[in-house]
Amino acid sequence: KQRVFSGIQPSGVPTLGNYLGAIRNWVPLQDTHDAIYCVVDLHAITQPFDPKQLAAQTREMAAALIACGLDPERCVLFVQSHVHAHARLAWIFNCVARLGWLNRMTQFKDKAGKDREAASSGLYVYPNLMAADILAYHATLVPVGDDQKQHLELANDIAQKFNHDFGAEFFPAIEPLIQGVAARVMSLRDGTKKMSKSDASDQSRINLTDDADAVALKIRRARTDPEPLPESAAGLEGRAEARNLVGILAAVAGATPEAVLRDHGGKGFSEFKEVLAEALVAHLTPIQAEMKRLLGDPGAVDAALRLGAERARAVADPIMTEAERLVGFLPR
Ligand code: ATP
Ligand code: MG
Repeated sequence: KQRVFSGIQPSGVPTLGNYLGAIRNWVPLQDTHDAIYCVVDLHAITQPFDPKQLAAQTREMAAALIACGLDPERCVLFVQSHVHAHARLAWIFNCVARLGWLNRMTQFKDKAGKDREAASSGLYVYPNLMAADILAYHATLVPVGDDQKQHLELANDIAQKFNHDFGAEFFPAIEPLIQGVAARVMSLRDGTKKMSKSDASDQSRINLTDDADAVALKIRRARTDPEPLPESAAGLEGRAEARNLVGILAAVAGATPEAVLRDHGGKGFSEFKEVLAEALVAHLTPIQAEMKRLLGDPGAVDAALRLGAERARAVADPIMTEAERLVGFLPR
């Protein structure tokens, strides 16, 4: 079976973007692939965070993943800091990746903002850690949202340079799996920005934990243009906000944007938004109920994560030992 790896940061509550662009696509891979999924807390500390909240947020993210359909029996589900291979391999990759490569990363530029000097050095080498996450398991398929494409290209560059520098075909090539009409869900406030769980504005996103009223209000307030919906997908050209809302309904309904517009083309946004909010609430309600149930027994979630970490270590440890041998470290 081909090995799949993906991760999500406990940097907030998962959003509709995380769900449609990533998590939802992780679920069926549990049955067809050797699937490894990780709550990446080492990544979450690259940006300002509250140490008093991090542990609870990490557990909450794990509960959200299970509620969305990940089964700790059928996949390996664990917390990144529980498996040391990630940090150890990331250090080696810090010494393989070139500064020039990292300088081209657009996520760093977006996240560091105007005051780049004040960004953590961890944020800068984030892509090296991400490469380590995947390659520590020799995973070859990575289901992610569209925004992570550039980081995966860098991971391939790192793997190639490692293989070249240390004279072995050791790390495999990685292939991104970017799926569906909602591989890039946009902010509800700005159709040119992706929806993010760390965005300062809560109005910019749907959180998986938002109740029906919050979902309806956020969708009602979502930015749109004044024209009614077009009759076909070609009419979405140049209308980022309209395209985003149509894409979200298509993804939730398991339809194409074309089919959504066959049903709703010509309607005004106020009418369409009612339909969209209702579909979202219907989709999210059972996930929220399951999440609440899981968090009623935090010990059980933690136990599942401990078991996941053990299984993850069993895969990563021998790969790490060989990577360190190739680099030339004295065996322990
Ligand atoms: P942060 O703002 O802290 O970076 P995030 O919302 O970008 O949070 P990540 O934990 O960085 O979430 O990413 C988890 C997964 O969700 C990745 O596979 C990423 O590509 C995907 N993802 C994130 N945002 C979106 C989005 N707006 N649309 C589709 N997929 C997304
Ligand atoms: Mg992100």
